[in-house]
Amino acid sequence: MTRKPLVAGNWKMNKTTAEATDLAQQLSYRVDQAYEGVDILVCPPFTDLRSVYVTLDFDKSRIAMGAQNVYFEESGAYTGEISPVMLKEIGCSYCIVGHSERRGLFNETNDDINHKVRALQSHGITPLLCVGESLQIRQQRNALEFISDELRACLLGNPVAAADDLVVAYEPIWAIGTGHTATPEQAQDVCGQIREDLANIYSPEIAEQVRILYGGSMNEGNAALFAACPDIDGGLIGGASLDANKFMPIVDCFR
Ligand code: PEP
Repeated sequence: MTRKPLVAGNWKMNKTTAEATDLAQQLSYRVDQAYEGVDILVCPPFTDLRSVYVTLDFDKSRIAMGAQNVYFEESGAYTGEISPVMLKEIGCSYCIVGHSERRGLFNETNDDINHKVRALQSHGITPLLCVGESLQIRQQRNALEFISDELRACLLGNPVAAADDLVVAYEPIWAIGTGHTATPEQAQDVCGQIREDLANIYSPEIAEQVRILYGGSMNEGNAALFAACPDIDGGLIGGASLDANKFMPIVDCFR
């Protein structure tokens, strides 16, 4: 089967509401019917979700919107947290979970992420689950085993029955925001193994449907190399997603 590529922008803690609206407008203006072959997603900060949604909706844009994090409870005394119910209502169809910055800076565990994946799935929001190894683990040649363990722990008990129930992003921690990308061979090795793991956890049919992205210093100069890899179905883009002139050439490589 052919999987439709997905190129996602993780805006992280960048863009005021005015700046986010401006970027959403620029992207929406450029994404015409020529982009039907690729899904495009933007993940702004929580405070920008409403304005970005209104902008994209007004333009009847094909660009989807996602959040960068979620809490797994539906409501209650969880000061500072945002629930899947709230994300759904504001127009999010995806949500990033398990990003290495959340794991590293905010001590998120595989168990937390497992709960978040389940909570999102039960509200019809596609989890974009990030996995990836540190430089130390890569140098010890344990990357494949580490990523298999991480993937299994985050997915344990969480059913995936259709392509929209899950997207996985392989993001080597040493490549995020550093300008050092994995080689296409390294990225393909890991993404191929993620697909095998998904076949074992779910079924070969589901593994064929789930999209697996590469993320880590992807830019317009290297995106085509990743797009040519059989198990890489798109990109999760950080820095280069903050500028339409840098993001759209990456999208072009996948369409
Ligand atoms: C990311 O944070 O998900 C990411 C891939 O960042 P960058 O593209 O800046 O490396």
